[in-house]
Amino acid sequence: MASNKRLLVLPGDGIGPEVMAEARRVIDWMGRRRAVGFDIQEDLVGGAAIEARGTPITDATVAAAKQADAVLFGSVGGPQWDKLGFAMRPELAILTLRRELGLFANLRPALVLDPLVDASTLKPEVVRGLDLMIVRESTGGIYFGEPRGVETLPDGSKRGINTEVYTTAEIERVARVAFELARKRQGRVCSVEKANVMESGLLWRQTVTALHARDYADVALSHMYADNCAMQLVRNPRQFDVIVTTNLFGDLLSDLASMLTGSLGMLPSATLGAVGPDGRRAALYEPIHGSAPDIAGKGVANPLAQILSFAMLLRYSFGLEEDAALVERACTEVLAAGLRTPDVMAPGCRQASTEEVGAAVVAALDRLGA
Ligand code: NAD
Repeated sequence: MASNKRLLVLPGDGIGPEVMAEARRVIDWMGRRRAVGFDIQEDLVGGAAIEARGTPITDATVAAAKQADAVLFGSVGGPQWDKLGFAMRPELAILTLRRELGLFANLRPALVLDPLVDASTLKPEVVRGLDLMIVRESTGGIYFGEPRGVETLPDGSKRGINTEVYTTAEIERVARVAFELARKRQGRVCSVEKANVMESGLLWRQTVTALHARDYADVALSHMYADNCAMQLVRNPRQFDVIVTTNLFGDLLSDLASMLTGSLGMLPSATLGAVGPDGRRAALYEPIHGSAPDIAGKGVANPLAQILSFAMLLRYSFGLEEDAALVERACTEVLAAGLRTPDVMAPGCRQASTEEVGAAVVAALDRLGA
């Protein structure tokens, strides 16, 4: 068994450990049945690490993340830590990892699985078969640009300032991720900005266009203004394959796109960094949901977003397309069979616990992978 794939597993708080336990079953299944073995290290982050070690993430955990081939993250946070100052918030764990690993491209698929087509607020004929990917630049743009702050003007009133800043290098590296993804999907990239009213948007468009002509002419490239993209995502989301956009627009558009699919408990994500000199790409995979303190400990959390995050890890960190697709098919089968956690419950389905859904995914893998 190939056991050179180093995985750092960080369950975190709230429902994080509950859903991660089910992902671990799928990871174990891969090792047993598909000879995809992992050297797994598990560690504390977030509130759990604050309680045990007095900090949301230790330097040793950051070092382990840098050593690992991929990080599988759960979720962090909870009301018991809300009163701590910003320097001690559980959420610092994920922010620190993103910064220290240089994770600049956030990938959020919006995939409508057939059994959940009615969970969307849009009509089934609009979202059936939807499979798009939003690539959001996640370390630059207006959330990090200088100058920023609030200043007091001579007349005593105040002025708030944030600055949208992008360099060609920042634009190129995230656009490359999008073009390379498109090559493995339907071969189409839509680049989204506001080149009509923002100079940084114009540079974005020019840079993506030049990179496309230079290195990715085989991919179909289109451009769209962000406001139109928001409209098109609701009007006809299936026109898109890969969307690449800035931090700010990606923040909004990826939330919008995720809701096309219906449930938070179903949605995985990946955040990728640069390819290092050793050929490895830093990568962290996590569900988009948080620690859901309202349902933690009740055994009702949907584990599929965490399991699907592991499927993304197989695909994007290790190129194991067939194994990733197998995990995705197993999840779809469980939903189609009508076994559901309460968040995706529908008439005629049977309500199941987190553990039952995890066990059903493993049973489906047994059947599909036989
Ligand atoms: P949340 O995503 O935790 O929960 C929002 C709602 O969705 C809740 O009603 C919850 O019960 C439900 N939900 C979420 N995941 C579910 C699942 N797998 N199955 C079934 N239902 C699910 O967001 P929130 O309530 O705004 O935040 C709770 C805590 O999580 C906060 O401390 C927040 O800071 C933190 N958070 C962490 C991350 C992260 O770790 N990356 C992301 C978002 C929020």
